[in-house]
Parts: sequence; C-alpha cells; structure tokens
Amino acid sequence: MSFIDKLIANTIRPEIIADTPYTVPDASGFIKLDAMENPYPLPPQLRAELGQRLADAVLNRYPVPSYASLKERIRARMGVPDGYDVILGNGSDENISMMVMAISGGGRRPVIMAPTPGFVMFARSAMLAGADFVGVPLDADMRLDRAAMLEKIAEHNPALVFLAYPNNPTGTLYDQDDVVAIIEALGEHGIAVVDEAYGPFARTSFMARLPEFENMVVMRTVSKLGLAGIRLGYMAAAPKLLEQFEKVRPPYNVNVLTQIAAEFALDHIEVFNAQADQLVAAREQLAADLAALPGVTVFPSAANFLLVRVPDADASCAKLLANKVMVKNVSKMHGLANCIRVTVSTAEENAAFLHALKASLN
Ligand SMILES: *Cc1c(COP(=O)(O)O)cnc(C)c1O
Repeated sequence: MSFIDKLIANTIRPEIIADTPYTVPDASGFIKLDAMENPYPLPPQLRAELGQRLADAVLNRYPVPSYASLKERIRARMGVPDGYDVILGNGSDENISMMVMAISGGGRRPVIMAPTPGFVMFARSAMLAGADFVGVPLDADMRLDRAAMLEKIAEHNPALVFLAYPNNPTGTLYDQDDVVAIIEALGEHGIAVVDEAYGPFARTSFMARLPEFENMVVMRTVSKLGLAGIRLGYMAAAPKLLEQFEKVRPPYNVNVLTQIAAEFALDHIEVFNAQADQLVAAREQLAADLAALPGVTVFPSAANFLLVRVPDADASCAKLLANKVMVKNVSKMHGLANCIRVTVSTAEENAAFLHALKASLN
C-alpha cells in the first residue's frame, strides 16, 4: 500500500471509503430535463434591478447571522403561522444534514426512515452522520403504504421520518390523512419532516398545520421555484425544536449574495408563482401526450416533473441522449423498473423530449 492509501485507511471512515460520490453529469449542449430546474430566466427588468442590489452588497463583512430581514419576508410570504420562526440552510440539503446531525452521534445510532423510492439525500445524510436508514416501499401505484409505515415505525422507533410532499422521484402527493397518521404515530418519540420542495406546484402545504403537531418540521426551498442557483432552503417548526437545530447551523451558512437575491425574489414572488402555474399547465399537457404513446405509463404527479414507465428505459435514455435531451434514468431504484424521470419545461423543450422519446419506442 502506498503512503496515501495507508493514510486514508488509517483515518477515513470505512463507509466513506466504500462510498461513491454523488455525481452530476455535465449537461452543456443538452436540453436539461434531469434536475427539476425551472426553465424560465428572470425577466430582463428584474435582472437589471437585481444586478444593482447585488452591486451594493457589503462583501467585506460577514453576513449578520440572524438573517432577520430575509426570515421576515419568508414568514410573511410563505404562510408561516404566527409565533413560528424559520431556520435557513444552504439549500434543503444542508437543512437535512443539520437535522440528521442533531440526532446522531454521541454513541447513538438512531434510525432515520423514509418511503422508498425517495430523495437520495435522506439516506445519504444518514450514512454520513452514522445513523441507520430504513426505507419503507411505496405501493405499486407509488402511494404511501400507511400500514407498512406504521408497522415499521413501531418496529424501529425512528427519531426522524422524512416525507417528501410531493415525493421525488415519483411525483406522488401523499394522502394528507396518511401523513397525519404517521406524524401522530411518531408522537413525542420522533420528528416528522414534511419536505415541501415541490410545494409551488402542489398548491397544498402542511405549513398552516404547524400548531397542530409539535413534532412536525415543514421544510421548503426556493430551488424548484426558479432559484436553484442561489442555494437557499428554510424550515419551520415549534420554536423549542428549532432552537436545537439552530445550535447545529454554521453561523454564516447563507452568504450575503444569496440573502440579497432571495429577498429580491420574495419581493417579486408573483413572477415565480406565475411561472409555476405555467409549468403545472405544461405538466398536464405533457402527461396527456405521454399517456397516449403505446407502452408508456405516466404516474400522477403534483410536482414539476413526471415519472414515466417505458418498455426499455436504457434504450429510451440512449436515444434521448443521442438527441441531446437529458433526463434521469431511475430504473435501478426500488420498484422503478424501466422508469425515467423528466422535468416539465417550456413547450419547445417538452416537444423535443416527446419527439425523441417517440423515436425511441420504435
Ligand atoms: C430537489 C429536492 C430538494 C433539494 O433542495 P435544495 O434546496 O436544492 O437543496 C429537497 N427535497 C427534495 C424532495 C427534492 O427533490
């Protein structure tokens, strides 16, 4: 063994050595339908105004770690109930890892649970923090299996349960009563995180119900709304619970440029909401077009993407790539044989996708 290999074996955790990094393919030159990004740029007038605000940013000082003005806008614009505060993260990804970090370590191996197939960062964050992850399969229609969830909760006593509402990569909007049954089953033994990353497209939210459930965290992000590049997520929960997570948060985790851009975006939230409305209409159109293709199944989606089952996912993805269209091949995930996940985009990009997919079916 070389020096560096010995050094790594002597210092780095075995799970990390065995792990493969989260890779993101280079999409330059492709129609990018693999990451649920909003295809619409900021309108020119707003761009000019934002440019001015960013030019005035105080870059030589650390951010003010209370982030009071940004949090105030989030509370006002995102329906956070009176008496509830938010914590900010460098994207939901950081909020997920802060919560996982707060429950893990110190000689404990807590259980973190989520339905599968689900968002990969739930299981990844658990592994990185030294927690155990238990995935509970969805049913064949990608709905929550309430009985299985309740059974696994009783068996494993999870400290944290993630419920993406709607779910990624399936697009499913779980039944509200099923979600409530899980939150209530956890009681004072476990925290339920309702991940509303796709909230802008689902038009329903657990935010207003925070006062009902002291063990619920509602987590949201501006990424899917059209600001994936600025990396900003937030979560709301009972103040005493949030206080604990606040101890884990790195004090300057949101940078001043993000803070300014997010405040600006929230002041013009109607622009983003209108884009979300357009994407919801486009989703319905694309779902209908796909369902009309022979051998193609489209799962119901409340998000800005569709889960689609085709006769041969690898062949379809190869054809799509040859036509410069990038989607996510999720066919290796549990229960998703021959499934691809495609982001809903502009009429032109959706048409290019449909055209290439059709060609792959012949
Ligand atoms: C995309 C996604 C996120 C990630 O959000 P960021 O704020 O961009 O880190 C969180 N949860 C789910 C379910 C997602 O699909």
